Amino acid sequence: MQKLIFATANEHKLTEIRSILPYHEIKGLIDVGITEDIEETGLTLEENALIKAKYLFEKTQCISLSEDTGLEVDALDGAPGVHTARFAGDHKNPDDNMAKLLELLGDTEDRSAQFRTVIVLIDHDQTLYFEGIVKGSIAKVKSGNKGFGYDPIFIPDGYDRTFADLDVSIKNQISHRARAVMKLVSYLQK
Ligand code: IMP
Repeated sequence: MQKLIFATANEHKLTEIRSILPYHEIKGLIDVGITEDIEETGLTLEENALIKAKYLFEKTQCISLSEDTGLEVDALDGAPGVHTARFAGDHKNPDDNMAKLLELLGDTEDRSAQFRTVIVLIDHDQTLYFEGIVKGSIAKVKSGNKGFGYDPIFIPDGYDRTFADLDVSIKNQISHRARAVMKLVSYLQK
């Protein structure tokens, strides 16, 4: 069984990727004894994902995976982007983050946005990137109680409801993360 280390301590993300890749042995940060925070000092999602995957590879010498996600709003020149998690401060509070975004947008007509996930895989001499994007728009008010993060204000293109209103099974088919993971999976299964 091929072993992969995933730069996350998030059990939900580990369970998700293990169910998609049952023929790989997938370990998280805690499984390989890494408990310290890996500093995300990059200026882009790609740089941050690379920092985490490199750190992990140097420590373990095993195939290392890392993921970074951002919400990119056109009217805000791509913000919050790499600052998505800490948009309203280091406490990473989703309600505060959404409130700040809604306030900044005000009545702006152009509310187009996208979620973008970048997955980096490092295996000795190889560094590969897998990108997943879902395009949509920012709602004027929050709606729905499913999902997490910015889901209550993101309406994916082709739907008239937010991610937090939609069934999780729909989100899991069309989301940025699902699309990036599918590209990774087709590479690993080659
Ligand atoms: P992370 O890279 O998964 O830590 O996500 C970075 C930021 O994007 C956090 O604020 C998350 O809440 C937000 N985020 C990531 N994926 C989603 C999603 O599917 N829906 C809503 N917010 C998300």
